[in-house]
Amino acid sequence: MKVLFVTSEIATLYKRGGLADVSYALPVALSNAGVNVSVVMPFYEGVGTRDVTCVGQLAIDYDRRRELVFIFRTLLPHSHVRAYLLRHPLLNNYDDAHIAERFAFFSKAVAQLSLYSASTLGGPYDIIHCNDWHTALIPLMMGESSKVAYRERETIQSQYAKTILTIHNLLYKGETGFSITLKLGFPKSVFHPFMTPLGRAVRLLTEGFEYADIVTTVSPTYAKEITRGVHGKRVVEIFKRRKDTIVGILNGLDTNLWNPSDDPALPVHYYPSSAIPAKAKIKEMLQQAVRLPKSDVPLFGFVGRLEKRQKGLDLIANAIKKLAAEDYQLVLLGTGQKSLVTLFEKLSAQHHNIAFVHTFDERLARRIYAGSDIMLVPSKFEPCGLTQMIAMRYGTLPLVRKTGGLADTVTDGKTGFVFGPYTSSALSAKMTEAISLYRDAPKKFSSMMTAAMKVDFSWAHQVKEYKALYKKLLQ
Ligand code: ADP
Repeated sequence: MKVLFVTSEIATLYKRGGLADVSYALPVALSNAGVNVSVVMPFYEGVGTRDVTCVGQLAIDYDRRRELVFIFRTLLPHSHVRAYLLRHPLLNNYDDAHIAERFAFFSKAVAQLSLYSASTLGGPYDIIHCNDWHTALIPLMMGESSKVAYRERETIQSQYAKTILTIHNLLYKGETGFSITLKLGFPKSVFHPFMTPLGRAVRLLTEGFEYADIVTTVSPTYAKEITRGVHGKRVVEIFKRRKDTIVGILNGLDTNLWNPSDDPALPVHYYPSSAIPAKAKIKEMLQQAVRLPKSDVPLFGFVGRLEKRQKGLDLIANAIKKLAAEDYQLVLLGTGQKSLVTLFEKLSAQHHNIAFVHTFDERLARRIYAGSDIMLVPSKFEPCGLTQMIAMRYGTLPLVRKTGGLADTVTDGKTGFVFGPYTSSALSAKMTEAISLYRDAPKKFSSMMTAAMKVDFSWAHQVKEYKALYKKLLQ
């Protein structure tokens, strides 16, 4: 069984968020469990590797031109997983107004690579594992290619490789104008367009739901929410026509990459037994680094994308105002929407106990996971969420809203704090509870810390589930 894992980001090479963590950890865990897996992503200018070899090229017809895409090969650090990086001017940067079109082009290149890959490119592949909207056109393309080549076949699915589409976030759908069908050179009839004020458009993610052999998502609760229509009715309609349903497999953590006893970003290393004094030292250094007063009040942390629609930042902003009389500190690290950057810059200037760092900084993130006492994850929705799991591994209690993967990973009063309604009063009440526990019941607080650190978030269990799915697909 040969698997090609297709993604827009991979931790250690190029990271924007949780998808990168998973796109590194899952293939490595699968490979360690004996699966022959390769990964492929665009070779952005910002990709952090020099150790690459050019192993081939693809000729892709796009926008009435023949484009040459160069295939580079490297190994994912600390693993035997081959990574293919596709170089083309359209794939130089992640950020651009035409991002959906550029990932459609990337998908065409990957479909071609996987259909015609010789063993020098790790193929031929049996399974193409696509992730999120960026790669969601691949199932259509694989099927369409085989339909074009084998007109007598009834099914649209490829006979060469089966496809899985994993949804990491249903919020982003990869919307683009209908002219993309012309640029790609695929028949219009295979797409599922919809009307916008500017004319017909397609959503790449929707096409993935239509054509992938199996659709999965990253936690059982998020899978249930999607099938109940909590995150939109369109998916529910599609699944009414399909024979199957969305499978939810909880993400894991790469426990080697996220390990407080061995993390090069930390000035002091620790195990559950030595966490309290070590974390106290790191907290002091963190306070100094982000210019918070040195103090033993509970320190809350937040690390994440500043995304209004998802991450609960409006609740945090209002809770800060509500908790003005409480003795606590909060450090936020994030990049994203400008209005939120302005809001938190203002709040940190007004409140001496709030620090806001507006950058993407892996090292500081790790110090926040280790040096904070409580990690805030008050998301409106959260497909899985990694920050709460990383926090637990680093002995920091997560304070989360009961949704998606947060509901599947944190137990209120045992490994963290969980609140229900999406309101700033529910959040501030939970924060007050956490502050009181830290101040008045330190023994209970530290026993919860130990319990959180001992939760097993390794990929071992989930890898078995993915292997079983792959096998089912090939039956
Ligand atoms: P999402 O995938 O929605 O962004 P997750 O919780 O699944 O959220 O994963 C976020 C990942 O990105 C974590 O590894 C987190 O540490 C990292 N991250 C997010 N923002 C930053 C930042 N500003 N600096 C460093 N790491 C960040």
